Amino acid sequence: MATDLAKFAEKNGVKYFMISFTDLFGGQRAKLVPARAIADMQEDGAGFAGFATWLDLTPAHPDMLAVPDPEAVIILPWNKEIAWVPGNCVMEGKDVAQAPRNVLRRLIAEAAELDMHVKTGIEAEFFLLTPAGDAISDAFDTAAKPCYDQQAFMRRLDVIREISDYMLEMGWNPYQNDHEDANGQWEMNWDFDDALSTADKHSFFKFMVKTVAEKHGYRATFMPKPIEGLTGNGCHAHISVWDAPGAKSKTNVFAGKGDGQTGEVGLSERGKHFLGGIMKHASALAAITNPSVNSYKRINAPRTMSGATWAPNTVTWTGNNRTHMVRVPGPGRFELRLPDGAVNPYLLQAIIIAAGLSGIRSKADPGKRHDIDMYAEGHTVTDAPKLPLNMLDALRAYDDDAELKEAMGAEFSAAYLKMKRQEWDDFCGHFSSWEKANTLDI
Ligand SMILES: [Mg+2]
Repeated sequence: MATDLAKFAEKNGVKYFMISFTDLFGGQRAKLVPARAIADMQEDGAGFAGFATWLDLTPAHPDMLAVPDPEAVIILPWNKEIAWVPGNCVMEGKDVAQAPRNVLRRLIAEAAELDMHVKTGIEAEFFLLTPAGDAISDAFDTAAKPCYDQQAFMRRLDVIREISDYMLEMGWNPYQNDHEDANGQWEMNWDFDDALSTADKHSFFKFMVKTVAEKHGYRATFMPKPIEGLTGNGCHAHISVWDAPGAKSKTNVFAGKGDGQTGEVGLSERGKHFLGGIMKHASALAAITNPSVNSYKRINAPRTMSGATWAPNTVTWTGNNRTHMVRVPGPGRFELRLPDGAVNPYLLQAIIIAAGLSGIRSKADPGKRHDIDMYAEGHTVTDAPKLPLNMLDALRAYDDDAELKEAMGAEFSAAYLKMKRQEWDDFCGHFSSWEKANTLDI
């Protein structure tokens, strides 16, 4: 039986609910609802003016309602009188097809029909900057190779410890935190989970990290490449598929010894085909996993100050080697290293499932395993596609991929392409100092 949010409020001393939804750009929008009104809202949803939702709706559309998913409610660990609850977007009694959480829910249901239940873990890297966002918050964090820097960690222990404590309290099973490869960059890891739960946690994690950082006088950013010359913010996804959702899952259906080179690294036939789908649709799925103009300064980047970008530029897969787009670190799972910090948490999970199911249906083959250091020997690979060089190339690749567009939903794909093309046009209309420096005296 569904959790009754009014009773939940009474039992836990919750005074307000923050009913939240995620727009097409990955932004989270919310209304704060007093507990006295939550019973009605649980039934009917919180109302939002369609045009302002960034879901490609017009001022003429009726109210868009975010109906809270009571099973996903989280009491804010830093303010226990308020609970955050993600909503499912509904209009005139029907799911808004292009709303990211709805896209994901539909794909999860499609996978379940094939007895496949996707579980993922994500690594959402972030920077701690000054409040203006123009410099790293720690003036002493200047080492050329700062990854795992113990002393820099001590200077931001209060922030990282507080977030880690909250994850422990919420039962996310966090297991490690580190200073990442760039100055001012951090990564915090918690247990993998069902795709929808991971998407909700990913959303909440971003909200929590930004809030805690602000409290301590810093600004957290998940921007793919916030500082030129330093490693960018990735959001690697570790993917496996199980026989049942949640605690009922017993068997990892990706684990096994399938045929060929994927079998050698511990993937079953289904694992191979799912990976084949990711490889087949890679250029198009970059439009979702790398959704910003800035995303393409992370992939295809020149070598960073630490010596490696840790981001791919070519559609290749391998065993336990971090220089490729896909790494199979051990039996039964693989890591997609393409997504970046700007990725929409719901669309990330949705596009993984859409591409993977396409691979399952077409028995896609991921192609040859490349057991080389791509950063040093990438030029020797001539038979693999290059990832898109910019957002427009990625949007075009997505638009050309009829199968993936259909799998993500025709309404979603049309709305997404429209809004992201507007964003690209806006970017192209922006005058930069580079243009002046390179053209003024021509
Ligand atoms: Mg990392």
